[in-house]
Amino acid sequence: MKINENYLKLKESYLFSTVAKKVEAYKAANPATEVLRLGIGDVTKPLTPSVIAAMHKATDEMAAAETFRGYGPEQGYDFLRDTLKAYYSKRGVALDFSEIFISDGAKSDFGNFLDILSNENRALIPDPVYPAYLDVNIMLGRQIDYAEGNKANGFKPAPNLAYDADIIYICSPNNPTGAVYDKKELKAWVDYANKKKALILFDAAYEAFISEPGLPHSIYEIDGARTCAIEISSLSKTAGFTGTRCGYTVVPHELKFGGTELNALWVRRQSTKFNGVPYVVQRAAEAVFTEKSQAETGAVIAYYMENARTISAALTEKKIWHTGGKNSPYIWLECPGGMKSWEFFDFLLERAHVVGTPGAGFGKMGEGYFRLTGFGSKQTTEKAVGNILKLL
Ligand code: PLP
Repeated sequence: MKINENYLKLKESYLFSTVAKKVEAYKAANPATEVLRLGIGDVTKPLTPSVIAAMHKATDEMAAAETFRGYGPEQGYDFLRDTLKAYYSKRGVALDFSEIFISDGAKSDFGNFLDILSNENRALIPDPVYPAYLDVNIMLGRQIDYAEGNKANGFKPAPNLAYDADIIYICSPNNPTGAVYDKKELKAWVDYANKKKALILFDAAYEAFISEPGLPHSIYEIDGARTCAIEISSLSKTAGFTGTRCGYTVVPHELKFGGTELNALWVRRQSTKFNGVPYVVQRAAEAVFTEKSQAETGAVIAYYMENARTISAALTEKKIWHTGGKNSPYIWLECPGGMKSWEFFDFLLERAHVVGTPGAGFGKMGEGYFRLTGFGSKQTTEKAVGNILKLL
């Protein structure tokens, strides 16, 4: 028996454990100081009343023999797939019901989807990046190239014919940079992928944070995307489902490689390796999309985005270059005074008692940058921003 030795090539992720250790050490040395966390990547608000009511109702159904549900369809219940079809249709995106797959979240499907793609494919991954894209490819021993984000391209790398990619990762709105591609920029990627016969894995986990009209929420708002892209999305940040677990993946029928539909392979993969998302969770997910619930989740998103705007306004006032904070809960800033990411982390913690996330932890292009988020409370955000304004 041999292990998959690719796992030995994974770099240990020290980012969040080092942050936690440094914060603990600081608290132990300064017990009277309130530490203000602006590095949170998880939601902090509870599920909304409509979602909770739907969950309770579905739980009661599970208690009666007539309404009890056992195994459900692997691809998700019809009621939720129909709801998502209608959600996309409001944006002018027509999907067939059979193209929508319910998942237990985006992270799982970003790993699982690679099951149906050959390991000979080369992956093109942005840098800086949400770390899971990278690690799932290392686990399979794939060749990886990087699309470099930097200040000049606003952390929105554009396609380049020098890339030799088969699988392209795009996340918009982006974690960690908060940058959002506009339609023209996304169209350039779609045209490039179609030309190269490559596949785009589009991460739409933060689409609900876009408020500016005209920015694309889905890659299928771009002509030509149905022949080159799958879309993976999630209710984690949209509706506070990080602990409840529900997402969705769209695989259009036009995606054919070597004469085989990816959709058919994905159905085969899912029905073999997955037994679906719990009924109660799918009913809760369905409830996210009612009109009343959209107002409730909209209010939560508006709360996080108000925090993000407060942070962004302070940075603008201090003339600190940053992306995000407008259509994304993430703010990505250039460390002032040419500081390196970890240097700025220590500086901010010691002098403003504020915790953020060093950009260097998201890739080599993140060095010298720093991530703050709007997921904290309004009170903490205001205090932290007050301290930052005094310090810088
Ligand atoms: N994609 C991005 C860019 C994320 O930031 C996250 C979570 O932080 C995910 C996917 C994972 O989402 P899920 O909770 O649905 O697995």
